[in-house]
Amino acid sequence: MLAGPTAVGKGTVSAWVREHHPEVWMSVSATTRTARPGEVDGRHYYFVSDEKFDEMVMRGELLEWAVVHNLARYGTPRGPVVAALDAGHPMLLEIDLQGARQVRETMPDALFVFLAPPSWEELVTRLVGRGTETDAERRARLATAKVELEAAAEFDVVIVNDDVRRAAEELVHLMKP
Ligand code: 5GP
Repeated sequence: MLAGPTAVGKGTVSAWVREHHPEVWMSVSATTRTARPGEVDGRHYYFVSDEKFDEMVMRGELLEWAVVHNLARYGTPRGPVVAALDAGHPMLLEIDLQGARQVRETMPDALFVFLAPPSWEELVTRLVGRGTETDAERRARLATAKVELEAAAEFDVVIVNDDVRRAAEELVHLMKP
């Protein structure tokens, strides 16, 4: 399970794993936010309405879920994770810290990996550089990131995202039995 502050590159590292390691099973989250250009429904996320998300929560279909940056809800569909683990496949979950804490409760045997930026300055540069958010969104994300960085100590392993390929390979290596 991979978590870490916003804009640290969790998405980029997971994208590398998705592309270069088809043997690694990856969870596709449900989210109420709208798709960014290039994002494909069912591949990057399941983009769902608020009503649909409520329904998933009520039916207990989500392993964990959280409101991220006060903006949208994100959750991990339970079925595929259970199926992968039953089949003996390790599965990669890329989630935020609140979600990680919920998984810690329900799946204490999972490996908790924290992706850290090389430095705070680097994180700010990445966050501003992405340019896909409004000012208000960016401020919310920076505030979240500050709190999240302090949570590294709760994790089993910390990987520094100094290089996407190197960080992704380290992650995949950790997942091998
Ligand atoms: P983004 O909108 O940039 O794709 O993701 C925003 C944040 O939501 C990231 O920190 C990402 O890790 C988190 N996130 C994505 N999917 C899930 C999920 O299923 N559960 C939780 N708790 N967080 C998620």
